[in-house]
Amino acid sequence: MNLTHPFLDADGDKLREECGIFGVIGARDASAMTALGLHALQHRGQEAVGIVSYDGSDFFARRGLGHVAQVFSDASMFAELPGEMASGHVRYSTTGGQGLRNVQPLHADLARGAFSVAHNGNISNAVHLKRELVDKGAIFQSTSDTEVILHLIATSRYPTLLDRFVDALRMIEGAYSLICMTPKRMIACRDPLGIRPLVMGKIGEATVFASETVALDVVGAEFVREIEPGEIVEVRQDGRLTSHRPFGNLPARPCIFEHVYFSRPDSVMGGRSVYEVRRQIGAELAIEAPVEADLVVPVPDSGVPAAIGYAQQSGIPFGLGIIRSHYVGRTFIQPSDGARHADVKRKHNANRALVEGKRIVLIDDSIVRGTTSLKIVQMMRDAGAAEVHMRVASPPTSHSCFYGVDTPERHKLLAARMDVQEMTKFIVADSLAFVSIDGLYRAVGAPGREDGCPRHCDACFTGDYPTRLTDLAEREADAGQLSLPVGKVA
Ligand code: SF4
Repeated sequence: MNLTHPFLDADGDKLREECGIFGVIGARDASAMTALGLHALQHRGQEAVGIVSYDGSDFFARRGLGHVAQVFSDASMFAELPGEMASGHVRYSTTGGQGLRNVQPLHADLARGAFSVAHNGNISNAVHLKRELVDKGAIFQSTSDTEVILHLIATSRYPTLLDRFVDALRMIEGAYSLICMTPKRMIACRDPLGIRPLVMGKIGEATVFASETVALDVVGAEFVREIEPGEIVEVRQDGRLTSHRPFGNLPARPCIFEHVYFSRPDSVMGGRSVYEVRRQIGAELAIEAPVEADLVVPVPDSGVPAAIGYAQQSGIPFGLGIIRSHYVGRTFIQPSDGARHADVKRKHNANRALVEGKRIVLIDDSIVRGTTSLKIVQMMRDAGAAEVHMRVASPPTSHSCFYGVDTPERHKLLAARMDVQEMTKFIVADSLAFVSIDGLYRAVGAPGREDGCPRHCDACFTGDYPTRLTDLAEREADAGQLSLPVGKVA
């Protein structure tokens, strides 16, 4: 995340994952495998990609703006990234955060040796820490919060690199899944609450780490296990693996939105198929918010599994009443407002032959600002739909995320400004309903919030942030306001 834009002004009308990470140690074609893994994680970030490799004596890096296939367009590029250890990163960056200097993995030569880091998540006290570091004379090369980690390691007084790394992690708050490289090992870790995902796999003698299991599948690696919340896994060049638990065992709070929207449906997360969870959310919606209708229509692609679940549970036929063009870039890549709005229309088109004269249940994964929902409801009406009932496969998104997901400022979130009745009017639907937070937890297969110990981060629906939000609290204090709850110390 970009430190100069702590409140992200999202261009589009979807929440957006900001990063995907991949690393492999012990493979002859480590950098090519990393590119393949990153390609499978492209949905987590499309604006920049980087790979760093190590050949036993030197580190090599290639970073660029664009998709993996654009930046690594030629197989000969991998000859410039030699070695049996490589890690990579795909990112979505915000206005002002673009540019090569912020493209990860970041790499630095420290007193205890070279160190590279690829980070998925967001450090919620990065501005505070950066201010302290700059006061002490640190010079930052980027505006990325991740660079704070490098400076904290560099300035730690502990003797070994691993101790310095742990010392640095103790100072940071928020969400981080990291894949780091030193000349001797690869280090993978998750923050103490495990907010962002990270999995481990094996392919032959090589060990692989990735944000999602789909990347393991694509490179042909076998899933071994998830990295546990708060766990640091060290893998040496000879394949020896050591697990450290320096933060003890806190109750895990992985992001529940990974199940709803961010992860690919062919990934497995928390032992559950993402596709199956989404289908089950649709079934919950059908139970909680039934409606008399003729056709269940998903907003493609992310609404499809929930729409299948809704149709199966309700007995209402499923149909592709909206067709998505696969030759249009994702909405949010467009730089200007005008381009973005034109893009929504080019991306989705009503299937008039199916929709005309029917009462439609429209299923989408979430409503962020509401502008896309408004357009799609109108598109259904223009195609002759008799009624349009919107059902949403997540609770109302009423709070911003500070853990590595790009969300608009809170006042731009439709659910922060309106109740369900007002939102129904805003999107001009005949009815609107969201799955309940309990229904969502049931679909994910976790106990709900009744016992006061939620098993996931669900802050964008509840405002219950599981960590301190120091930067936010300081900003609000400076502005003389304290509008958001600040969570407990993790
Ligand atoms: Fe996920 Fe929402 Fe928590 Fe962010 S605030 S980590 S999107 S559940």
